[in-house]
Amino acid sequence: MGVKDIKKARNAVEFNRESLESVLKRRFFFAPAFELYGGVSGLYDYGPPGCAFQANVVDLWRKHFILEEDMLEVDCSMLTPYEVLKTSGHVDKFSDWMCQDPKSGEIFRADHLIEEVLEARLKGDKEARGIAVNSSVKDDADKKRKKKVKEIQAVKLDDKVIKEYEEVLAKIDGYSGPQLGELIKKYHIGNPVTGELLDQPKPFNLMFETAIGPSGQLKGYLRPETAQGQFLNFNKLLEFNNGKTPFASASIGKSFRNEISPRAGLLRVREFLMAEIEHFVDPENKSHQRFNEVKNIKLSFLPKQVQESGFTETVESTIEDAVASKMIDNQTLGYFIGRIYQFLIKIGVDSDKLRFRQHMSNEMAHYAADCWDAELKTSYGWIECVGCADRSAYDLNVHARKTKTALVVRQKLDKPREVTKWEIELNKKLFGPKFRKNAPKVESYLLHLSQEELATKSEQLTSNGKVVFNLEGIDEDIELSHEFIKIEEKTTVEHIREYIPNVIEPSFGIGRIIYAVLEHCFWSRPQDTARAVLSFPPLVAPTKVLLVPLSSNDELAPIVTEVSKILRKQQIPFKVDDSGVSIGKRYARNDELGTPFGITIDFESVKDGSVTLRERDSTKQVRGSIADVIKAVYDITYNDITWDKGTAHLAPFVSQSE
Ligand code: AMP
Repeated sequence: MGVKDIKKARNAVEFNRESLESVLKRRFFFAPAFELYGGVSGLYDYGPPGCAFQANVVDLWRKHFILEEDMLEVDCSMLTPYEVLKTSGHVDKFSDWMCQDPKSGEIFRADHLIEEVLEARLKGDKEARGIAVNSSVKDDADKKRKKKVKEIQAVKLDDKVIKEYEEVLAKIDGYSGPQLGELIKKYHIGNPVTGELLDQPKPFNLMFETAIGPSGQLKGYLRPETAQGQFLNFNKLLEFNNGKTPFASASIGKSFRNEISPRAGLLRVREFLMAEIEHFVDPENKSHQRFNEVKNIKLSFLPKQVQESGFTETVESTIEDAVASKMIDNQTLGYFIGRIYQFLIKIGVDSDKLRFRQHMSNEMAHYAADCWDAELKTSYGWIECVGCADRSAYDLNVHARKTKTALVVRQKLDKPREVTKWEIELNKKLFGPKFRKNAPKVESYLLHLSQEELATKSEQLTSNGKVVFNLEGIDEDIELSHEFIKIEEKTTVEHIREYIPNVIEPSFGIGRIIYAVLEHCFWSRPQDTARAVLSFPPLVAPTKVLLVPLSSNDELAPIVTEVSKILRKQQIPFKVDDSGVSIGKRYARNDELGTPFGITIDFESVKDGSVTLRERDSTKQVRGSIADVIKAVYDITYNDITWDKGTAHLAPFVSQSE
């Protein structure tokens, strides 16, 4: 079988999530945590193949990004004090919208509920055109509830409604809480099981709160992302990098989010492994030195304008064209999109099930210049698995202001240059009497205003004769006239340019990616659908080789020992299966674990030292000396050599065992 035939065979039997789940459970890839105590939703433990697979994915991530790009790795504390996350905006804004069923107390995540119900209605419509049926509604309860169920079922799905639903689904990631509330009302969306009407959506902060230390005084959170630790170490990292930009930091570690209704296995959990990069770049030059290496990659993009018009059709484009047309904001962002693509393909993502979706204007944080998610298609729909955002200078700016520490790059200029900047002068003598104990706070606020803020304040001062603003912890409005402050543009000659770098942030959820790869690599043999295969690329497969002595005859044992010794020495992960079951069965149970190669030892091996090498997907077999077979395994696994090339020096072998 050639590569094309294997792809055809892999698609011949329709994907069945239950079969995959059964394999994952039976072979202990992962399982609900604390299962003996009934489990807690959104928490999982990984078993041996899950751990090995995750370790290989993380190892490849580290090589693909940190080593290949010379990034600076940090490992920061997960416990984070309140102040840090207050400053970053997480305390106020890191929320999802939830609505509660007042009768049962059940809680739903508002956007997911709308998505689920509208999709169910659209699906129902394909089978029974024109009737909106929320298929999971059970109308076996009291009369009042039956009436509501009927109300929900009575929504007519004519073409106009279908178009409306599709538009809502295309824009679902961009709605605010009140807008979600309107949609729930408009489309009569209730509890999907009982039909009960729900309360209005309320924000729910996703961070796990805790107290650090015995006094309980120092409020903290388990970090919801690894990024903040990287920002807070910026000055040390810059110094480590000899003051030069661009450079990137990277971090791999657990993050925690108290998801409203975790579901879909590893896709939405409350504790997960993240791998994040913060690439610090000059805001005036976002070109990337290695852009040429990725510019010709052609990808499926779902730009914001398409979604904002209510559609989900993707645009095929090279990264070069996408940057040139400004669909992607800048080269560095384009470069990372290309690198993310290459990484995902290396670990087994199906390129036909990968698209890059741009955040819509109302979905993106106000400070972000552009943001794209790598979405992978799974049986749960398109799932965001990697986020890639240009966060401008927001994070460094807010932390610098809060801690009164400069988080800047100082660049010695080859030629001094004239620069015009806004400058503020405070008449401090007047601040004390007016603001008393609050005077230092007001002064500090003013002295840390950005250039844009100074420009706005100067305009206000000119047109209104005063600036008015509020500060946290001070009840009354703060009003300042010309007597107190002077804001002017001044031109000076600069020998050193000082700037706050912008940040491009690729952010990976390892568990989500792992689950998507499991779906993309899973298939059943068309000739026997009970035989499942996980076609992991050899590099990330948990075990690389299954060593199978044909029989338990003592004569074969020394050869098993000899091959094991060589595999161990070369650090090729392997397992011996010397159980009594048929060789076909032994292969089959290792196909389920995604083991790419089988080495069979038989009585010929005793005579001439030759062994058989079997490939998992094609079940092709070849024969050669132990050394040649192991070399083929090593080259195909670690040196990116194809099967045909790697085994060209081995003899074809026909077996009766499959
Ligand atoms: P975000 O910071 O929300 O853009 O998330 C970054 C990445 O973390 C996403 O692309 C996901 O891969 C992953 N992620 C976010 N939330 C979860 C979750 N609840 N469970 C698993 N992975 C998550």
